[in-house]
Amino acid sequence: MTDSVQILELNAFRSASPPTEPGSHLGRRLRNFGAASVLFYREPIEMVSASGPWIIAADGRRYLDFYNNVPSVGHCHPRVVAAVASQMAKININTRYLCPIVDDYLDKLKDTLPSALSNVIMTCSGSEANDLALRIAAEASGGTGFVVTENAYHGNTRYVTEISPAAQKVAVRPNYVATIPAPSESGSVGEEFAKNLRTAICALESRQQKFAGFICDSIFSSDGIFSDPAGFLKLAVTETRKAGGVFIADEVQPGFARSGETFWGFARHGITPDIVTMGKPMGNGFPMAAMATRPDLLVRFCKDVGYFNTFGGNPVAAAAGLAVLDVIRDEGLQENALQIGQYLKGRLSDIARSRRRIGAIRGAGLFLGVDICRDGRPDAAATSNVINRLKEHGVLVGAAGRTASTLKLRPPLCLTTTEADIFADALEKALSKVD
Ligand code: PMP
Repeated sequence: MTDSVQILELNAFRSASPPTEPGSHLGRRLRNFGAASVLFYREPIEMVSASGPWIIAADGRRYLDFYNNVPSVGHCHPRVVAAVASQMAKININTRYLCPIVDDYLDKLKDTLPSALSNVIMTCSGSEANDLALRIAAEASGGTGFVVTENAYHGNTRYVTEISPAAQKVAVRPNYVATIPAPSESGSVGEEFAKNLRTAICALESRQQKFAGFICDSIFSSDGIFSDPAGFLKLAVTETRKAGGVFIADEVQPGFARSGETFWGFARHGITPDIVTMGKPMGNGFPMAAMATRPDLLVRFCKDVGYFNTFGGNPVAAAAGLAVLDVIRDEGLQENALQIGQYLKGRLSDIARSRRRIGAIRGAGLFLGVDICRDGRPDAAATSNVINRLKEHGVLVGAAGRTASTLKLRPPLCLTTTEADIFADALEKALSKVD
């Protein structure tokens, strides 16, 4: 077993005995999904519709969505819905045919990326993008060994599950994977992180695993959200390259303007990765993801196998992606993430002054982590209570971190101060019952 909380166990529904009465939706779900069923909350919620940051449940209750970073420009954004419907009605086909909208999208996407990363492969999920990134890194470096953070999550294929400690209920930890602690919260953050990386690279080499690369989520979401000081990742990237490895920035969580200061999480650190992977908010709910890299890395990989993905890069995905980029620009969502994020952090700091349960508050833009503590130490049980009480107050949040004692806040980027206040007021009420 691992000594940390597995990612699917976070805020999970546990059924002692599935309901058997006819017509119970929960019963049907448990019978259909079987052992693979994963539902949130002590009492799961049935959802019916959504708009902006709000979701309507089957019982008519309205929930403020502080959890889902997929519908990042707002649930069911009319421009994304219209773009998808219109392209679906025109043509949807694979990338073995030319279709201008796909290249229109990629040109626009590349405007947001470092110019060196001029080749983009589109996939359907972040897992597929990371799987491909690992294969390219291994090919380019001639190595096998990867370094990841202790509670990293990078997806669900066999390869990415093996390099994702947070995905494992029983630790797999193959020989070719070495882990390092999440960045520290103070002191020489960058130096310490790079030193740990160096040690991990040596550990791989002592196991006869030539170093292939270092992959990290640039806001360390499953590790508990570590964003500061901006720039601390620089030394780790230098260290990676010095050891002949490839640096992969997994932007599935922080990408697409969420961190406010920059469009990509890695850009806050002033670095240019060798490979960038992205997904979740890319299509605002339309399943799409991608991997961007330098041509020299891709050429080497394609000599051996090459890559094709039946649904990846289809014109409907391109339409969704284009609409998302346009909405982020036209509605000023990056600036909004920055401003409302700062406002929210301010409200959280005010609450922390009177509520001893709040420990550290971390994060950038509208991606914040709040430690819930008892006697100054992280407290998973209290965090779970707060999450379930917030639900009673009509707010949805998740947990993060090795011990699941960090509240993970990722509301849509269109959040207003009024909605930030609704959240903060609900948190105060939830905390008052946990004290
Ligand atoms: N990387 C990170 C950092 C993620 O959080 C996730 C999904 N939670 C993935 C990759 C995998 O993405 P997907 O579920 O789309 O395969």
